[in-house]
Amino acid sequence: SKAALFDAENKVKITFKDVAGLDEAKEEVAEIVEFLKNPSKFTTLGGKIPKGALLVGPPGTGKTLLAKAVAGEAGVPFFSLSGSDFVEMFVGVGAARVRDLFKQAKEKAPCIVFIDEIDAIGRSRGGGKMPGSNDERENTLNSLLVEMDGFSTDSGVIILAATNRPDVLDSALMRPGRFDRQISIDKPDIIGREAIFKVHLKPLKVDTQSVDSKKLAAQTPGFAGAEIANVCNEAALIAARRNKKAIEMQDFHDAIDRVIGGLEKKNKIISPDE
Ligand code: ATP
Repeated sequence: SKAALFDAENKVKITFKDVAGLDEAKEEVAEIVEFLKNPSKFTTLGGKIPKGALLVGPPGTGKTLLAKAVAGEAGVPFFSLSGSDFVEMFVGVGAARVRDLFKQAKEKAPCIVFIDEIDAIGRSRGGGKMPGSNDERENTLNSLLVEMDGFSTDSGVIILAATNRPDVLDSALMRPGRFDRQISIDKPDIIGREAIFKVHLKPLKVDTQSVDSKKLAAQTPGFAGAEIANVCNEAALIAARRNKKAIEMQDFHDAIDRVIGGLEKKNKIISPDE
């Protein structure tokens, strides 16, 4: 079977209430929701709606979630692809894929186009490249720039992209009329972690006597939202294995240990010298 060129979701169910913390980032993207809902309100005075915004922050902090929530709040389709899918691609495929994506997006506008890991295609061109290795990546980046320049913002397509490496991005991406806005998404502080725990505890059967989201937030310094979601799921599985009727604080403690263990293993693979 032919691999999907990109993902398209017509009815996005995720909204801002699913995104805990990130209050400043939510405020910034709320403007994009307004543009998508009522573009003419903003263009009648001659203003230009931004084409794209870059969501910058470490892995697992909710960049994809926030981009989806923008589509969900505005009630518009969500098109997405990941920059890492373009690595080692046959010549011409990446560029063609980008063109297809924008063609469909324009047909379905207003909508959101989300490009995850844009650094995989958007690394600065030229300098220090390995022989023959990344021509296709460059083609893909060029076709993305051409597409971004080729439609007017009245078309109602807004592009959100995510990266944890803004430092390596080609400066051409940041020119006016492209990703001219940057929104930073940081790892949550203790208040943010408590809010994220509350979101992920909601669908679970927890022992309300012992389980306390404030304590859980205090016990998970350095965790991103993705790890907190992971802890909640692990706790549910651990409690089920223990034949419990509800998830207790002890199950969360053991889940936290397990997630920390997993993180340590991952770090060892990344830096084998330590
Ligand atoms: P990556 O850079 O690795 O793609 P990301 O920043 O896009 O990561 P997401 O994919 O949005 O992170 O987050 C993964 C999952 O973690 C989400 O689907 C959600 O379950 C949980 N999560 C992350 N951040 C939050 C948050 N702020 N509120 C609620 N859940 C969150």
